[in-house]
Amino acid sequence: MRLSFEFFPPRTPQGRTSLIRVAERLNRFRPTFVSVTYGAGGSTRDGTQEAIGLLLENGFDAAPHLSMGGDGPEQIRELLDVYAGLGARRIVALRGDLPSGMGRARYPNNAEALVRVIRDHSDRRFHLEVAGYPETHPDATSPRLDLEFLKRKIDAGADSVITQYFYHPHAFFDFLNRARQVGINVPIVPGIMPITNFEGIVRFSDGCGADIPRWIRQHLDALQHDQDALIAFGVEVVTRLCTELLGADAPGLHFYTLNRWGATTKICENLGLDS
Ligand code: FAD
Repeated sequence: MRLSFEFFPPRTPQGRTSLIRVAERLNRFRPTFVSVTYGAGGSTRDGTQEAIGLLLENGFDAAPHLSMGGDGPEQIRELLDVYAGLGARRIVALRGDLPSGMGRARYPNNAEALVRVIRDHSDRRFHLEVAGYPETHPDATSPRLDLEFLKRKIDAGADSVITQYFYHPHAFFDFLNRARQVGINVPIVPGIMPITNFEGIVRFSDGCGADIPRWIRQHLDALQHDQDALIAFGVEVVTRLCTELLGADAPGLHFYTLNRWGATTKICENLGLDS
């Protein structure tokens, strides 16, 4: 099965050292690849590149996330050449989000345009991942159209899909069924967000359209002043989610680690992924 761990680009030399330490700790689960996010609009262009270079040097199959933001194809082509030179073999191609505080404005180019630029310039050099939304992307006018746009990304040349995180397994199963019905036949890998804090997960989930079921919210609310108990609860809930997904033939798991190894490690151990 395919396992991957996502990181964000550190800002300081200490952060970079710590990133490698986290990646090494998680390496016992033999991930297929690790990935590093990208601040759309280029805010982490150097940071993402640097982190990818460092991870590749340390023997990880490291995939940069990339989005056009306000860039034109020429700037994207330059970045693709840099990543090819560094030895990257995989890219996560996204539209990206504007930084918070920019209201409801959106980037003009959707991810499909980026997939086309990458395929035009680099042919099959990179395995291309794109994003999918079991609970429907917040900007989408309907689940059906959202899925149609996902299909267009695949038709433009994407190889597989990583989903936004979710805590309702049936949202994933329903999405998978609907995707197969419209002819999306590539692997669809569930994105997994470990739960390690109350306010952060609630705020973030509201923004990206991931629903936290009421029963989970109630427990998190009750445990918010007992960090150990909250983490233990989060590990138990997410382990059960992953067990159900893998039991129903999900092709793998993609963990949003937030550059931390503790909860992800416990979940992977519970799933027996180190054996
Ligand atoms: P798209 O596929 O372009 O879709 C965006 C919206 O536009 C959807 O509502 C879709 O239905 C609609 N749409 C798509 N095509 C069309 C079209 N042709 N016409 C009209 N509407 C259309 N964000 C970052 O900033 N940096 C990251 O590193 C990052 N990594 C991520 C990794 C994963 C696995 C996931 C799931 C998300 C990630 N995100 C990241 C968040 C992502 O950028 C946002 O969710 C963003 O709002 C949408 O990106 P997308 O690639 O799904 O966009």
